[in-house]
Amino acid sequence: MTILINESQIIGKFDYKKYFSIILSILPVEYIGNLKVIHIVDKYENDIDFDSRSYGCYVIRNYYGEIFINIGNLSNNKIPSYLYKNYPEISALFLSEILGHEYGHHVNAFYVKYKGDSEEFAKKYAESCYYFYLKQRRLHIYISYYLASVNFLIFNRNERMMFRKSINDIKKWTNDNKHIDYPGK
Ligand SMILES: [Zn+2]
Repeated sequence: MTILINESQIIGKFDYKKYFSIILSILPVEYIGNLKVIHIVDKYENDIDFDSRSYGCYVIRNYYGEIFINIGNLSNNKIPSYLYKNYPEISALFLSEILGHEYGHHVNAFYVKYKGDSEEFAKKYAESCYYFYLKQRRLHIYISYYLASVNFLIFNRNERMMFRKSINDIKKWTNDNKHIDYPGK
C-alpha cells in the first residue's frame, strides 16, 4: 500500500507520512490487503464518477481498492489550510475521520459485505477511527487546542473560545462513548 500525493499545494509542510502512518496504525490491519493506494489530491481525476465536492471517495480498480482524500474540498470547510501548518495535530484528528470513513467502504467492499446501508457502515468506521485516534494522541491534541485557544495573534476572541470549547466537547464526547468499536468485528 502506498500513499501518493498528487500536487497538493495546500498540505504544504504537513508531515503527511507521519500522520497517515499513525492513522493507519489504529485501523484494523487485517483488512489492509487489497488496498493499493491512498491518493491525496486537490481535486478528483476526471474519470472518477463521484460527488466532486466530497471530502473523500473510495473506488475499486482492477480488483484493488483505492482511497482518495480531497484536501481541496476539505479546505473549504472542515480543515482550512493554515491548520496543517500551525496545528497539524488537529488537522490529523479531522483526517482520521475522513480516512476511517473510506477505509470502512474498503472493509465493507472486500471483507464484511454488509447488506445494509454501506454509508451507515462507513460512518461508524469513521467514528471509531476518530475515537481511537483521539485516544492515541490525546495529549498532543489537547495541547494543540490549548495553544490555538491562547493565540491572539491569529485568532479573534470568538475563535479562541471555540478552540477552548472543543477541548471540553472532546472530553465529554470520549467520556460518553467509551464502548465505540469498529463495526463488523
Ligand atoms: Zn461514504
